[in-house]
Amino acid sequence: MAKEPDAESGRLVIRNVEFLGGMAEREGWRPDSSLPEIAFAGRSNVGKSSLLNSLVRRKSFARVSRTPGRTREINFFRINNGFVLVDLPGYGYARISKEKKAEWKPLIQSYMRRTTQLRGIVLLLDIRREPSDDDRAMLDFLAEMEVPTIVALTKTDKLSKAAARERVVQIARVLALESEQVIPFSAHSGEGRRELLEAITDLVQAIPEADVQ
Ligand code: GDP
Repeated sequence: MAKEPDAESGRLVIRNVEFLGGMAEREGWRPDSSLPEIAFAGRSNVGKSSLLNSLVRRKSFARVSRTPGRTREINFFRINNGFVLVDLPGYGYARISKEKKAEWKPLIQSYMRRTTQLRGIVLLLDIRREPSDDDRAMLDFLAEMEVPTIVALTKTDKLSKAAARERVVQIARVLALESEQVIPFSAHSGEGRRELLEAITDLVQAIPEADVQ
């Protein structure tokens, strides 16, 4: 039997998770923390809750992300007292009004402008879909803010191995990303969990550019 990728033998072992609270509106409350922050973004239904639950594997974590109302907020979790995981609200949900759809932008932009500790973003894209206008707008915004970005391609178990490999190349090409920036991921099979944890560890440990003389 194939062994599930064993993240506990990877470099980042998640031992401790503490919910710090949610930021619900522009300029609203956010935690006062000097730890590095790693944020997760993606359109609704891309598989963000599944990916985060697979990474963190804590019931308390899953409970917070399922709480009604929290899905529209930016939720902050302290991990191992080493960094803060920032769960950004899913964007571009087809079943809500245009007005509501646009809400994520000012909230996320307000977070990005106020944080001084953001070391990187994991942007989730469904491996089977073409990146949407919102996805591209998010990537452009991240490039403009000069935030190091990793793209996690979700739900790889829905494609054959060969088709998934091809999609990785195609998506990297259309979005002009380096292949090291793209990590295929499946919450169902565990594919990519260790690679993603390692990439996050690298971002957390990277020296921010502002500190490099
Ligand atoms: P979110 O809205 O981005 O938080 O997305 P969810 O994590 O709630 O997932 C949306 C849907 O996609 C659910 O029906 C999940 O069961 C499904 N899903 C999420 N991750 C995977 C995956 O890795 N593989 C498969 N096959 N389905 C997934």
